[in-house]
Amino acid sequence: MIRGRRARIVATLGPASRDRVGELARAGADVFRLNFSHGSHDDHRAAAVAVRAAEVEIGRPLALLADLQGPKLRVGKFRGGKAELATGAKFRLELDPVEGDTKRVCLPHPEIFAALKPGAHLLIDDGRLRLEVAKHGPDWAECVVRQGGPISDRKGVNVPSVVLPLSAMTNKDYADLQAALEIGVDWVALSFVQQAADMAQLRKLIGGRAAALAKIEKPSALAFLDEILDASDGVMVARGDLGVELDPEEVPIAQKRIVRAARLRGVPVIVATQMLDSMVSAPTPTRAEASDVANAVYEGADALMLSAESASGAFPVEAVTMMDRIIARVERDPAWPGLMDAEHAEMGGADADALSAAARRAADAIGQGCLVAYTSGGATARRLARERPLQPILALTPSRDAARRLALGWGIEPRIVPQPQSVDDMTEMAVRNALQMGLVKPGQRLVIVAGVPFGTPGATNLLRLAYAR
Ligand code: PGA
Ligand code: MN
Repeated sequence: MIRGRRARIVATLGPASRDRVGELARAGADVFRLNFSHGSHDDHRAAAVAVRAAEVEIGRPLALLADLQGPKLRVGKFRGGKAELATGAKFRLELDPVEGDTKRVCLPHPEIFAALKPGAHLLIDDGRLRLEVAKHGPDWAECVVRQGGPISDRKGVNVPSVVLPLSAMTNKDYADLQAALEIGVDWVALSFVQQAADMAQLRKLIGGRAAALAKIEKPSALAFLDEILDASDGVMVARGDLGVELDPEEVPIAQKRIVRAARLRGVPVIVATQMLDSMVSAPTPTRAEASDVANAVYEGADALMLSAESASGAFPVEAVTMMDRIIARVERDPAWPGLMDAEHAEMGGADADALSAAARRAADAIGQGCLVAYTSGGATARRLARERPLQPILALTPSRDAARRLALGWGIEPRIVPQPQSVDDMTEMAVRNALQMGLVKPGQRLVIVAGVPFGTPGATNLLRLAYAR
């Protein structure tokens, strides 16, 4: 099954959709996010089984993305589950795990108390409540409630103005990563990345069993963006937490900067959170949301993500369908290629970059037809995608893992094939598969990029034209 669009859709699975995976896949979901902040390992395992079944059903590789919670700060529990904080009142945070009330609550993170400064702001529940630190000690902080409201058990806490001395992964993340790798996910995302070393640590733990994706949701990650991109296989513009830590007017600027930097390197980039937020409870989006989705497509993002819309909303399948419709419509706009090319990356110095740029030129000169990357690990296909060609990119690989990872990649149609014996064998294979998949018609041409000898990752050194017949 070929998608009628290049930008990909990431759908978060949750209670509203874990047993509707097939419907989501048919509606257009390419990547399924298992959110380890919620749900049990058994829930994720069952969802993964459903995704692998849907993959067989629709005849197209699908990717599983495990999302690790990372060092997310949360308050403890309240007596009766909740409390109301009055603006202007005093409120105390402390290590003591006793259930909280209107005067105090537990903050179970000793390292935070040490890093706080008087005047620092703590944002609670995605910034709905705001506390200002007056005084603090090694295991407590006296705060003034600057913006009050209802607070309940385990609400998230952000401390945007302070670089926190937190390790990149918690004990829960180690256990979740273990479970995710046993499930056999294709991508692992880490939340609240602060620096490149966080990703290096994750990659080391993954040991090549999955690709590693950095969620950019802290000012510190923006400060080290280039280094983080070099240490990651993909990134996410995680606008939910980023939008809590940054002022609203900074978020679109950060989004454009992250997408541009990722495209320059050919690192897949996901734009995430609140894209069709009103569809959590309504069957159609606001027109501003439709415009937000469209804007990410014009920017040339590899993928767009649904969170609560598909995980817990009332219209999970409708949300995927709507996203599919908006993306496909933008990609039919005659102005779209030009707008996207305005963000086109300068060619790098490597031979492989020269070859993929040449392949795109050749395909443009020929007009119709398709591009083919014969790739063992996926790098050759990614380099072609980086060029954002208008022809489809058929990625032929003998590796099922590579094919699934490539499901998160702009315009790439992954297909598993046996390892070819010769260049002629590969050419014949490319023509046959492209015809079968409807990517070319008889008489049209294919521009093939590969590396010989076959099976040597990274060695892209061959450009070949072929006729479909
Ligand atoms: P989350 O990440 O949904 O796991 O919080 C995305 C975001 O913060 O935007
Ligand atoms: Mn987040």
